[in-house]
Amino acid sequence: MLKSIGLLAFLLLAAPSLSAQAPAKPPTLVVMLTIDGFPERNLEKFAPQLTGGLARLTKGGAWFTNAHHDHGITETAPGHATLLSGRFPRSTGITANRVGVFDPNSPLIGFSGGPGASPTRFQGTTLVDWLHTKDPKSRALSVSSKDRAAILPIGKSKQQVYWYAPDGEFTTSKYYADSLPEWVVKFDARRIPDGYAGKSWTLLLPPSAYTEPDSVPIEGNGRDFVFPHMLPADEAGIETFFWTTPFGDEYEVALALEGVNQLHLGQGPQTDVLALSLSATDAINHRLGPDSREAHDQLLRVDRTIGMFLDSLFKLRDPSSVVLALSADHGFGTIPELAQGVTPAPTRVTLQPALAAARQKMKALGMDTTGIDLDFQVLLIDRAAFTKAKVNPDTVLRVFRDEAMRVPGVYRVDRFSDLVKGDTINDPITRRWVHQFPAASQIEYIVTLTKGSLWQGPLVASHGTPYDYDSNVPIIFYGPEFKPGKYSEFVRTVDIAPTLAAAAAVKPTEKLDGVVLTKVLK
Ligand SMILES: [Zn+2]
Repeated sequence: MLKSIGLLAFLLLAAPSLSAQAPAKPPTLVVMLTIDGFPERNLEKFAPQLTGGLARLTKGGAWFTNAHHDHGITETAPGHATLLSGRFPRSTGITANRVGVFDPNSPLIGFSGGPGASPTRFQGTTLVDWLHTKDPKSRALSVSSKDRAAILPIGKSKQQVYWYAPDGEFTTSKYYADSLPEWVVKFDARRIPDGYAGKSWTLLLPPSAYTEPDSVPIEGNGRDFVFPHMLPADEAGIETFFWTTPFGDEYEVALALEGVNQLHLGQGPQTDVLALSLSATDAINHRLGPDSREAHDQLLRVDRTIGMFLDSLFKLRDPSSVVLALSADHGFGTIPELAQGVTPAPTRVTLQPALAAARQKMKALGMDTTGIDLDFQVLLIDRAAFTKAKVNPDTVLRVFRDEAMRVPGVYRVDRFSDLVKGDTINDPITRRWVHQFPAASQIEYIVTLTKGSLWQGPLVASHGTPYDYDSNVPIIFYGPEFKPGKYSEFVRTVDIAPTLAAAAAVKPTEKLDGVVLTKVLK
């Protein structure tokens, strides 16, 4: 009797040391699950209709509803580079999609037509490196339809990283391996996308479950904007298009599960990492808008796909040894032409007239006009060329700024040097630009569009701005280390990596921007 009381007392005393800061038994698998282009508002809007994996995670996990990518260019590459690094784009080096993963020195394996890809421009470390430093046996598998979404979450580490090549097969690049492992070759040989040729995407639920009109011609730029959506009937067509359909997500999940099985990932005792980014939501939102009936149906489908993924994963691995974070690489803006109640009315913007005016001024001053360049929202100049020509750069910069401010859809034209000194507490736009680029960047101006506006281009709807509709994404932590609940405080996606590191009892090996969200750790 006394003995058992003594043991009980010991357990009670010991309890505090079992906190997630130093779990008695670290998880054997950390899963970073990302839905590409998934705004928080859509999760909340459709939560009552969810019955699958998203329902399981929102109900059983620690769900942060006011979580943000707290940087200015809310695109795929910077977003993914942030998730497991815990650092803003200014320090990962991946400041925009156009920085990305393109690398001609790392050709794809078994597919000659695609661009090579590697994390060559990614700087610093990720959770994968921290785990590897602690235990060299720790490994990672990363899967996505997009190269940048497979590569960037895990940083520079040469792990098992696979993405979708336009021939319908998963591949990797020379950066990671000289050939594909047998299990991936066998998986590709099933030619799953070909089985969808000529099939159609229909509504998952009865039409009455969808309140959105289906007949909005601007969705799809007037093409293929109503259900059912016929998939290409020919093999080449379906192979190229497949990843942009809801079924592409299932294909990714199947490869990820096969990898967990084949690689014995998460069997311990070390902690392994699985990164899985489901890309179809982003492609559907770009094509048809995040408020379309198709986006709604895709959310219902990704909910079920994730449900299937979790059910299968937890058959392969004990749920008590798995921790998971779900998030997105960015949110999404409404199709500008459909935005309601936004003043001024959102529009599609080009700054070419402002650039032309600045070049005209340079010409008038006897300068070569190549000394100025515009990269979407970023204006750069060759200061040495101005010094050589004995021209004060401000005379030209002023022309650009004045012309840019006259362009419909332009909200702000800020000197980057002013932003760095600006109010990062009360002005989220300033703060997000400061988090985007290193303070020493040779950037003259950063242009911020008005709310809802987009850069001109072929996409019906998009993302990439510092506004909350693009920055606010779900963060859900799930697993025995976390306290379930709905949390409304402001948190950042840079907080994911340190929080997962704490749950896995591993220390980051460099200074991070994010903090451990201790409130949700047991
Ligand atoms: Zn994306």
